[in-house]
Amino acid sequence: PYDMLIVGGGPAGAAAAIYAARKGIRTGLVAERFGGQVMDTVGIENFISISYTEGPKLAASLEQHVRQYGVDIITEQRAASIQRGDYVNLTLASGAELKSRAVVLATGARWRELNVPGEAEYRTKGVAYCPHCDGPFFKGKKVAVIGGGNSGIEAAIDLAGIVEHVTVVEFADTLRADEVLQRKAKSLPNVDIIVNAQTTEVLGDGSKVTGMTYKDRASGDIKRLDLAGIFVQIGLVPNTEWLKGSDLVLSRSGEIEIDARGATSMAGVFAAGDATTIPFKQIIISMGSGATAALGAFDYLIRTPDP
Ligand code: FAD
Repeated sequence: PYDMLIVGGGPAGAAAAIYAARKGIRTGLVAERFGGQVMDTVGIENFISISYTEGPKLAASLEQHVRQYGVDIITEQRAASIQRGDYVNLTLASGAELKSRAVVLATGARWRELNVPGEAEYRTKGVAYCPHCDGPFFKGKKVAVIGGGNSGIEAAIDLAGIVEHVTVVEFADTLRADEVLQRKAKSLPNVDIIVNAQTTEVLGDGSKVTGMTYKDRASGDIKRLDLAGIFVQIGLVPNTEWLKGSDLVLSRSGEIEIDARGATSMAGVFAAGDATTIPFKQIIISMGSGATAALGAFDYLIRTPDP
C-alpha cells in the first residue's frame, strides 16, 4: 500500500505529490491526463513570478518536477470508486485496486460548453471561459458573456472595467444572479443584458471570433452581435461523478466539501483544487490547496497508527 495516493495530475495533484514525496513517504499519483486543464490553456499571465507562459509548457514542468521525486506515477487510468476499509481503497476503471493510508483527491473540473457551431473552432481564439485569466486580452474591445447566473454577472461586472462593452446573453427570461449583482451590472453604462436569447452560433473569420448569433426566443428571429470575445459562463462542473454513492460529502453542485486543512468527510481522505468547495478556481489557488491537502494528510498520517 501507499502512504499517500493522489488522484489527479493537474496543478493541485502535482503540488500534493511533491509535498508528500518530500516527506519521504511512499507516494503514488493516478491521473487520466497529466497537466489537467492547463493542457487546454494557451497564454497564462497570472501565474505569479512568471509573467507569461503557455499551458503545455507549464504542464511539462509540473510533470518534470513531480518526476524528480520518487513518485509512482500512473497515467491514462481513471479512478472509478473509493471506499474506506483498514486502508482507503481506490478502484480504477480498469478494475485494478490501489490501497493507501491517505488519499488526496484532485480530479479538477471542466467548463460546461455551449455546444454550438464555432465554439470548438474558436476556443482560445476569442471563445473564453475564465474572465480572471483572459479578460485583459480583450481590453478596449466588445465582448459577450453567455449566462446570467452569478458567475456570468460577476464576469460582466469584472469585464466592464477592462473592455469597451459587454453584452450578457441569457437563455431564460430572467437572470438567476443575486439581486445585488444584477443591480450593479444594470448600473454600468457599458453593459447590456439580453434575456430569452438562445445562443446559436459563434462567428469568426477563420482565425478569430468576429461575433455571434442568437435566437430571440419570443419572436424566433435570429440576431447578430459583432464581438471580439465570448465568455461562456454556464457552469463549472467538478469531476466528481465517480464519487456519488460513496460516503464522501459533496456540495449541491457536486464539489467535494473540505475544511481549512483539506480534510473531507472520510477519514484519511483529503481533497484540493477545482474539484472542491474552495472558492475561486485558478492554477495558483489549486497548487496552494494541493500543498495544504498533502500537509493535512501528512499530519493525519503521523497521528494514525499503521493498520
Ligand atoms: P485539473 O487541472 O482539472 O486537473 C484534474 C486532473 O485530474 C487531471 O489530471 C485529470 O486527468 C484528472 N482526473 C479527473 N478525473 C479523474 C479520475 N476519475 N481518475 C483519475 N484522474 C482524473 N487558471 C489560471 O490560474 N490562469 C489561467 O490563465 C487559466 N486559464 C484557463 C484556461 C482554460 C481554457 C481553462 C479550461 C482553465 C483555465 N484556468 C486558468 C483554470 C485552471 O486551469 C484550473 O483552475 C486548474 O487547472 C485546476 O487545477 P486542478 O489540479 O484542481 O484540476
